[in-house]
Amino acid sequence: MKVGFIGLGAMGKPMALNLLKAGHLLVVNDVNAKAVEELILAGAKKAESPKLLAEQVEVVITMLPNGGIVEQVLLGEQGVLAGAGDGFGIIDMSSVAPGFTQKMARLAAQTGVCYLDAPVSGGVKGAAEGTLTIMVGGDEQALARYQGLFQILGKKIHHIGAVGAGDAVKIVNNLMLAINMAGAAEAFALGTKMGLDPQVIFDIVSASSGNSYALSAKMPNFVFKGNFTPGFTVDLQYKDLELAVQTAKDVQVPMLLTNVVQQLYEQVRAAGLGKEDISAIIKPLETLCDIQVRVKN
Ligand code: NAD
Repeated sequence: MKVGFIGLGAMGKPMALNLLKAGHLLVVNDVNAKAVEELILAGAKKAESPKLLAEQVEVVITMLPNGGIVEQVLLGEQGVLAGAGDGFGIIDMSSVAPGFTQKMARLAAQTGVCYLDAPVSGGVKGAAEGTLTIMVGGDEQALARYQGLFQILGKKIHHIGAVGAGDAVKIVNNLMLAINMAGAAEAFALGTKMGLDPQVIFDIVSASSGNSYALSAKMPNFVFKGNFTPGFTVDLQYKDLELAVQTAKDVQVPMLLTNVVQQLYEQVRAAGLGKEDISAIIKPLETLCDIQVRVKN
């Protein structure tokens, strides 16, 4: 299949590489020339604009930081829709708001373009290994048409419902990740301040009722090593919490915990750590409590 890929960042680059390795013809676009060069070396072609990219492929995958950027890439004179026609497909795998996706899908449909939202979970590791969980919203026939692509990128592909439903479930997942990460950070700060060995806390809690992905993946791979290279950045997590808070207002669901936790991530951003992994939420606590939650190899 001739596939376009826009957004070759922490997630998009390994995903695009997996599509290439599986034998698909890939045309890529990104504002970061270095990321594009890496894909060209691996066998991809580059397009100077989303419009020129769309003219060369039958489906485009976007993996971009936020809805504003997705909109910029899809609309306008140089956007994907300007180069796409009847039967073309857009698969947006970015984490964005369901309402935004529904608006883009309506615009796409005006030119006969079908639109799927397909946000993912599983992090950079899942993207590299092709083991992502993919949450698809949109037409079932379109999902069937692109099933082969999804199977290269992920292990668990779920059709959630109508367009936007994938984004909705992704928001729910990521607000739980945010809360669990903040909880794990606070709990380890307390345990370490009480004199417990972080490794002992980890061994006990990961086999107990306090377990979570934030504990099992983020503590040993990031916090214990003192390595906060993303991963999943604080800025992106903050953006996902904003999607949850805003969407909750639309449907009148009170989000007390989510708002408080979003402010914790705001503190981390204010400390200049927005580009670090979400596990850096522990850093202000470490400073306040004069501790370091580290484990020697
Ligand atoms: P990233 O910031 O590493 O990558 C984004 C890429 O988009 C960059 O290469 C950037 O240069 C490119 N880009 C920005 N503006 C552009 C434009 N106008 N045109 C073309 N390219 C442009 O982000 P990421 O971590 O890869 O995340 C991408 C999406 O996936 C986000 O919506 C994020 O919330 C979601 N996500 C991330 C993770 C994770 O662990 N990092 C996990 C699941 C979902």
